Amino acid sequence: MPDTTFDTATLSASRPLPKDWIMGISPYVPGKAAADDGRPLIKLSANENPLGTGDAARAAMAAGIADLATYPDPGAAKLREAIAGKYSLDPARIIYGTGSDELLHLAASAYAGPGDEVLYVRYGFSVYDIAARRVGAVPVVAPDKDYGTDVDALLALVTDRTRVVYLANPNNPTGTMTPASEIARLHAGLPGDVLFVLDQAYAEYLDDSEDDGGLALAEKASNVFVTRTFSKIHGLAAERIGWGYASAEIIDALHRIRAPFNVTTAGQQAAIAAINDNAWMERSRDHNAQWRAWLAEQVAALSNHGLRVVPSKANFLLILFEGKLTAEAALKGLMAEGYATRWLPGQGLPNALRITIGTEAQTRAVAAILRTLAEGA
Ligand SMILES: *Cc1c(COP(=O)(O)O)cnc(C)c1O
Repeated sequence: MPDTTFDTATLSASRPLPKDWIMGISPYVPGKAAADDGRPLIKLSANENPLGTGDAARAAMAAGIADLATYPDPGAAKLREAIAGKYSLDPARIIYGTGSDELLHLAASAYAGPGDEVLYVRYGFSVYDIAARRVGAVPVVAPDKDYGTDVDALLALVTDRTRVVYLANPNNPTGTMTPASEIARLHAGLPGDVLFVLDQAYAEYLDDSEDDGGLALAEKASNVFVTRTFSKIHGLAAERIGWGYASAEIIDALHRIRAPFNVTTAGQQAAIAAINDNAWMERSRDHNAQWRAWLAEQVAALSNHGLRVVPSKANFLLILFEGKLTAEAALKGLMAEGYATRWLPGQGLPNALRITIGTEAQTRAVAAILRTLAEGA
């Protein structure tokens, strides 16, 4: 240690203070993977792909780590071309990020600041609150309509301070879907200088007929930013890759503040393989549709015990507990049997659990445990 003498009085007299809006943030709570005693759990708490990662993406990932000494392509040119090719987009207007989380933060950072308002629905994705507060903006929360998006409620809260509107579609944690007509109506009602961020983290689970029109809207409109992720259907959550699409002007602004080299070389290669692996996506989508419907039926059969399922278009179900069995007791009962699910009292949902659709065996086990718990309550 260098022999430096400190004046201890000066040392304790002052200290750096975080911005008060930073200290107003409740940190993001990730889905559990272990019980309180450290025992590993089957993780149905983070909406990951229960089938894992496709072979093509896995092989590309393995090949991608051959050169670790060189920085990744900072523009992810091949990845942007692959995405553009698949969805008929302009590659120059695609931005990618360390997960779509980074992109959601970029949107608030570039378009909102202290005193501005950032609007989203109650039971919206928890990152929106953090993204808004982080830049000193005021989060404004619109009431839901039976857990779903209420476009009129959102529009009623737009003021001349509103800078960004976030909407996840399908939404997390509710799984609810806002149809294309409502998305169009929301967009039409927003002033042109409000950035509309449409978070499509679960869009790949939809049928073509259920498309909310977001990418088509972003193609034409000057105030729409659509985000997607490789963390859900593509099974690459560990690599942290998201992408977004907007006007050239929006993309230019966001590019100025994104972290350089924000997607690894192996991640870019795995993502290219994943986006071209239609068979894997279809298998994952079919699995999800089948077991989501099955689990929803099983829960509906427990309605006499106060269990109710919110209609979902995503890869999870939000189950409401309105009888003797509480959500907290169900969380603990499932955990005792080895399953981690998501209880969200901090998001105003003390009476609900969000459960990711797992493998067939996991889904059957969850249904059986819920039945035992409900009947025994
Ligand atoms: C999972 C999820 C994301 C994706 O996050 P990544 O950072 O891409 O892993 C984004 N939005 C919503 C609503 C999500 O549920």
